[in-house]
Amino acid sequence: MEKTEDQTMEKIVSLAKRRGFIFPACEIYGGFGSSFSYGPYGTALKNNIKSLWLKRFVDGRDDMYAIDGPIILHPALWKASGHTDGFNDAMVDCKKCKKRFRADHLVEEATGEDHEGDLVKLNAALAAGIACPNCKAKQWTDARFFSLMFKTEMNGLEEPVYLRPETAGAIFVEFNNILDTMRPKLPFGIAQIGKAFRNEIVTGNFIFRVREFEQMEIEYFIDPEKEWDDVFENLLKEQEAFCRDLGLAEGSFTRREHEKEKLSHYSRKTVDVEYSFPFGVKELFGLAHRGDFDLKVHSEHSGKKLEFFDQASGRRFIPHVIEPSFGVERALLATLHSAYREEILEGGEERAVLKLPYQLAPIKVAIFPLLKNKEQLVAKAREIYSELRSVFACEFDDNGNIGKRYRRQDEIGTPFCVTIDFDTLEKGEVTVRHRDTMKQEKVSVEELKNYLLGQLK
Ligand code: ATP
Repeated sequence: MEKTEDQTMEKIVSLAKRRGFIFPACEIYGGFGSSFSYGPYGTALKNNIKSLWLKRFVDGRDDMYAIDGPIILHPALWKASGHTDGFNDAMVDCKKCKKRFRADHLVEEATGEDHEGDLVKLNAALAAGIACPNCKAKQWTDARFFSLMFKTEMNGLEEPVYLRPETAGAIFVEFNNILDTMRPKLPFGIAQIGKAFRNEIVTGNFIFRVREFEQMEIEYFIDPEKEWDDVFENLLKEQEAFCRDLGLAEGSFTRREHEKEKLSHYSRKTVDVEYSFPFGVKELFGLAHRGDFDLKVHSEHSGKKLEFFDQASGRRFIPHVIEPSFGVERALLATLHSAYREEILEGGEERAVLKLPYQLAPIKVAIFPLLKNKEQLVAKAREIYSELRSVFACEFDDNGNIGKRYRRQDEIGTPFCVTIDFDTLEKGEVTVRHRDTMKQEKVSVEELKNYLLGQLK
């Protein structure tokens, strides 16, 4: 069956809700600001994505240190980094239908030109006749900057505090603590997973652009006197390897290097890893060489030296930093999109299946007694279930017929279903059914755990 990409997105959103991955939050109150809650399988999938990331970027390396900083940080930090005054997007309203847009996105879609951050050019481009995508009128308010920082208050403080708009800030301020406690050698990285908040002007495309999301970020510190191209390239290759960990197909993710003239003044090179989402090729992850900008401004504003002392050469200097940055929600959306398949089975029946990499699957093994009302079958199935669940994420299901149970597990992405039937009682064999091929094979109960361990390793 032919399906358009738009339909794919609709189907993923519907499966995510129907099967307990992702729900629009606060639906009983009519939903709220495109925020989402993660159900049991969504939570497990997200955790598995974060575990894979930690395995590749932290636990599997000797040069990375993980931290977990606060969401509300000292307001001086955001002043120093330029976020308080400069973390803005340009917004514009259609005078006719009152719909609000990001001015740079409107202009880029209409003209292909990127004028992010340049109000004069954005207003000129809008005035030249860009039509409102909603009502087709060409009457715009002036584009103006809007701060993406979520402001809040803290007891005892007069000035406002902010929910962090990125996790990176919490890393730079602990630079000296990591040096003092871990004694790292250059190059080394500090990594963090955590929530970030941006008061986006327009959210959308499901969990692609939301106001509350999770980032997985690393600040990788290097010696400014040493060659950095290889370090940059290796981190980029690791980001691409992570795309493969997520099961994204070759060709679905691509590099896009930012033009030199568009780079921030401190950046030497920035590359986005983009993914072919159903709604277009968009940023999935980013990699930026940020020079000494961050440590320098925090050092200037705090009055504390943020330097590295190289014992071998006796040099003391501010390291440069390369920042690989990942969004958990975008990783999750790309993973779901890559894994989602519709297949026509013999006899014309259709099945939807999430062909998730085994490591990511929320449930690894589902255990079914063939019949719900046969006590011996149920007791045996329960026994096998309690043995396997100490090793794998398992689910016991005795609802409906076996075909229905397979369909459900296919949509959740469960790699193996194990059915306990009369052969189990008589010959000590269970039927193992494979998600991807739907092939079934008999495995002895004694061998089952090792068999699954071998398959899922
Ligand atoms: P965009 O251009 O799409 O707004 P960005 O360049 O502002 O993204 P960064 O500041 O580089 O994004 O943030 C690092 C990562 O955080 C992004 O690569 C993306 O995966 C994720 N991210 C950023 N903003 C959002 C958001 N509003 N919702 C979900 N994920 C986000």
